Amino acid sequence: MASHCPRCAFHFNRVPGHWLGSWFLNVLVTQGVVVLILVVVGAATWPDVPVMAMTIGAGAAAVFVPLAFFPFARTIWVAIELAMRPLELDEGVAPGFELERDIASLRAEATTAGRDRGDATGR
Ligand SMILES: [Zn+2]
Repeated sequence: MASHCPRCAFHFNRVPGHWLGSWFLNVLVTQGVVVLILVVVGAATWPDVPVMAMTIGAGAAAVFVPLAFFPFARTIWVAIELAMRPLELDEGVAPGFELERDIASLRAEATTAGRDRGDATGR
């Protein structure tokens, strides 16, 4: 996985231990799939439950689901972490055009306010 976003230079690994959350998501989804396989197959075939087939299927899911879900877990975790701890200005992320437009409008507003204040005090 790239360490930075190629477009805005957002650094994905923002704090030490950042990826523990994505590991948690991956384990959560994998365990969910394994339990789903066991419950659905067990309920569908009750009372003659194919224990060996269920064991092989659940074991295969326990190996392949985390591998397949790994990039999604990281991406989802980056989004969750960004929602929990919004970007700081000093993180070096290129703001893009929206912020430049906002800054221009703020500067125009400040210039207008300064001129108005100057008029009001008679300077
Ligand atoms: Zn980006």
